[in-house]
Amino acid sequence: MTLPQFTFLAPTSLTEACALLEKHKGKIKIKAGGTDMIVRLSHRAVKPDYLMSLKKIPNLDGISYTPGEGLTIGALALLREVDLSPLVLEQAQMLARAAHATATVQIRNMGTVMGNVCNASPSADNIPTLVAMNARIVASCGVKEREIPIDEFFLGPGRSALQANEIATAIKVPTLAPQSGVSYQKISPRSKVDIAAVNIGAMITLNDDGECQVARISMGAVGPTPLRARQAETFLLGKKITDETMAEAGRLAAEDAAPISDVRASREYRKLMVEVLTTRALKEAVGFAKN
Ligand SMILES: Cc1cc2nc3c(=O)[nH]c(=O)nc-3n(C[C@H](O)[C@H](O)[C@H](O)COP(=O)(O)OP(=O)(O)OC[C@H]3O[C@@H](n4cnc5c(N)ncnc54)[C@H](O)[C@@H]3O)c2cc1C
Repeated sequence: MTLPQFTFLAPTSLTEACALLEKHKGKIKIKAGGTDMIVRLSHRAVKPDYLMSLKKIPNLDGISYTPGEGLTIGALALLREVDLSPLVLEQAQMLARAAHATATVQIRNMGTVMGNVCNASPSADNIPTLVAMNARIVASCGVKEREIPIDEFFLGPGRSALQANEIATAIKVPTLAPQSGVSYQKISPRSKVDIAAVNIGAMITLNDDGECQVARISMGAVGPTPLRARQAETFLLGKKITDETMAEAGRLAAEDAAPISDVRASREYRKLMVEVLTTRALKEAVGFAKN
C-alpha cells in the first residue's frame, strides 16, 4: 500500500491543532486511529498536503461517568476500550455492543468511536445507538466549544456539521431515564465483521402503566445519513407496548427507510430487515425497560 505525499503534523495541544486546521484550511485532514483515513489516502480518495494526527493531544482519550449527567467518551477512546469499559457496560451496555460489532479486534485496537462518528458513513456501527440515546458531540475550535445534538451532526455521506477549524473532542451520552431500555441490532449478510447492510438503534422509556413515554429509533444504511423512524416513534407514544404495537412500529419504520440496492443488499431486503430488526430492537429495549 503506497500513500500520496503529505506533511505529517502531530500537535501537542488542542489550541495548536485547531490553529493548524485554520492555517491549512482545505489542504489538511485529521487522523485519529487512521483505520478509515489511511484506506482513503491509499485509494487517493483524498490527497491532503497535511495529515494531522490527534494522538499527541492530551486528555482526549478518557471514558468517564458523572451521575445524573451521563457518560463522556473522549475522541481518542478506542473502539476496543469502549467495547470493554466497565463504565460503558454498566451505564450504556449497547454502546459496548455497537463498538464490539465494529470490524475485527485488530481494527478495534486502532480505531476510535469518534472516528466512526466523524467518518459519517450511513452504515457506521456506533451511530444508531448514539442517536437512539440522544448523544451530543462536543466540538472545539481551540478557543470556543459547542455541543452538537447528534441528530444535527450528519449532513450527508462523509459530511458532518463540524466546521473546517473544529475538532470533535468528546461524545456525551445522557443518563437513561428510569424504566428505559436500549438495543442495537445489526445485519451483515457477508460476514459478522463486515459493515452493516442494515443497523438499528432503539431507546424506549415506559411509564408505570407500561405505556411508551419516549421512543427514539435510528436506522443505518438505509439513507444518505442515519435516519430516524419518525412514524414508528410517533405511533408508539402513549401506547401500551405489546407484540402487536412493536410489529406495527417495525412496519412503519420500513416505510420511513429509503435504502438503495448495492453490493451488500437489495433495497427490498433492506426494507424487510428494517422491519425485522426494529421489532427485535424494540422487544429487547422494552425487556430492559421493565427490569
Ligand atoms: C477492515 C476494516 C473493517 C471495518 N469494519 C467496520 C465495521 O464493521 N463497522 C463500521 O462501522 N466500521 C468499520 N470500519 C471503519 C473504521 O474502522 C471505523 O469507522 C473507525 O471507527 C474510524 O476510527 P479512526 O479512529 O480509525 O478514524 P480515522 O480513520 O482516523 O478518521 C475517520 C474520519 O473521521 C475524522 N475524524 C476522526 N477523529 C476526528 C475528530 N476527533 N474530530 C474531527 N474529525 C475526526 C477523520 O478526519 C476522518 O475523516 C472498518 C474499517 C476497516 C479498515
